[in-house]
Amino acid sequence: MGGRKPLLNVKNLRTYFYTFEGVAKAVDDVSFHLGKGEILGIVGESGCGKSVTAQTILKLIPMPPGKIVSGSIDFDGIDLIELSMEDMRAVRGNRIAMIFQEPMTALNPVFTIGDQVSEMFMLHKKMNKKEAWDHSIEMLQKVQIPAPEKRVHEYPHQLSGGMRQRAMIAMALSCNPEILLADEPTTALDVTIQAQILDLMLKLKEEYETAVMMITHDLGVIAELAERVVVMYAGKVVEEGLTEDIFYNPMHPYTQGLLQSIPKLGNRAMGGRQQLHEINGMVPSLFHLPQGCDFCPRCPKAMDTCKENLPDIKPVNTNHQVRCWLY
Ligand code: SF4
Repeated sequence: MGGRKPLLNVKNLRTYFYTFEGVAKAVDDVSFHLGKGEILGIVGESGCGKSVTAQTILKLIPMPPGKIVSGSIDFDGIDLIELSMEDMRAVRGNRIAMIFQEPMTALNPVFTIGDQVSEMFMLHKKMNKKEAWDHSIEMLQKVQIPAPEKRVHEYPHQLSGGMRQRAMIAMALSCNPEILLADEPTTALDVTIQAQILDLMLKLKEEYETAVMMITHDLGVIAELAERVVVMYAGKVVEEGLTEDIFYNPMHPYTQGLLQSIPKLGNRAMGGRQQLHEINGMVPSLFHLPQGCDFCPRCPKAMDTCKENLPDIKPVNTNHQVRCWLY
């Protein structure tokens, strides 16, 4: 699928959590790829395995109780699963960086913004303190933080939510990573700031040719940024395709439900009352997945076979694949 040579190739990845309650199959046979300079959207409701997939790529899951049970994560010819923790540290933050929904996950409250961005340059680019500090100011300027010479001396709590998010993006992009894993990067921000941050990420992606894995439950963000989309449900990929195919020709009943739950502009202006569709039921517990298709208890199109048998993901054309007995 896709024309570009994959920079990241995730194959049959399984990450399970072994707890007293049982085994949670958070990522269960997930495969996808990401090309150089591409923006790939990963969507699904909370608890569908999006974040654990990203954390597995950077080996950020707590092990134990987590365990990468099988699969491979090929990054530019290196299998990240086989990498030692020490070698992984050289990749993390340097060649692959991650930004989170909550910037304080990445920012340390007791160090200034300047100290934290500088550290990335000193650690990964072997710059001296003065060079690193100058580069930090430049980086804050790039992410459009006003008065960066002043802001570098400030602590995270002195910045607004939007500014903190920019500082975290500056830190993540400081080493010019080849891949940026963005986990709900704008969810906690109000819409105006959200639009500014998305715009900024697009500009930086153009400038640095960074590939972005954009994890979100917000299909509006995906429509704006992503070239391809992976839809996840209960730890599995249920549909994958080009963004226009997913939006104009969604095939999996779960994807169709997600799209029908987006409010559309205009209906009210036309004098009608907008009917917002919601997907029936709840995301199943990963400890107690139903037999057969995971979406079966919520699916309006479920058939007898769905209750018994889990469908494989199958291509419907060169760029589109779906996991459903309807196809
Ligand atoms: Fe619905 Fe059956 Fe398709 Fe699952 S396999 S999404 S239950 S139609």
